[in-house]
Amino acid sequence: MTDPDAPFWHRKSLAEMTDAEWESLCDGCGRCCLVKLEDEDTAATYFTDIGCRLLDGQSCRCGDYAHRNEKVDDCVRLTAKVVHEIKWLPPTCAYRLLDEGKDLYWWHPLVSGDPDTVHQARISVRGRVKDSEDDVPDETLEDRIVDWPARWPKGSRRKTPP
Ligand code: SF4
Ligand code: SF4
Repeated sequence: MTDPDAPFWHRKSLAEMTDAEWESLCDGCGRCCLVKLEDEDTAATYFTDIGCRLLDGQSCRCGDYAHRNEKVDDCVRLTAKVVHEIKWLPPTCAYRLLDEGKDLYWWHPLVSGDPDTVHQARISVRGRVKDSEDDVPDETLEDRIVDWPARWPKGSRRKTPP
């Protein structure tokens, strides 16, 4: 039987969560808001160090979350079904972790109780978004590919803070 005192992400599947629970799962890392490039031959996705035009590189949050889909055509609205289908979500993403049957880590704000731990653990994009997409010519995007958004920072997979 499920412990009624367990946190909601242990008791419920992604599809069972309320809207508020779903939204609180986002750790605010901003990794998914980086411009991504897809290899047409292999369908592999590559992150760049360029932010979506609405991404705030300091807070790592969307500048107009309520209207994001009207303002940015390719902004992906995550749902339980979509999370399962998207292959490029960062390995640290809470939705991906739970979809894969894993747990949240110490730096997740729901676990730590502190929204800054996602920055302290270098999970977030803070300080690493070098440009906004509006300022970068398309022909130079390939030069901006980086691998850190698809990696775990040192110490981030420990059970407790380093
Ligand atoms: S990668 Fe996941 S946890 Fe991070 S901002 Fe995007 S949706 Fe939220
Ligand atoms: S519109 Fe907002 S939520 Fe969507 S990718 Fe851009 S910054 Fe992220």
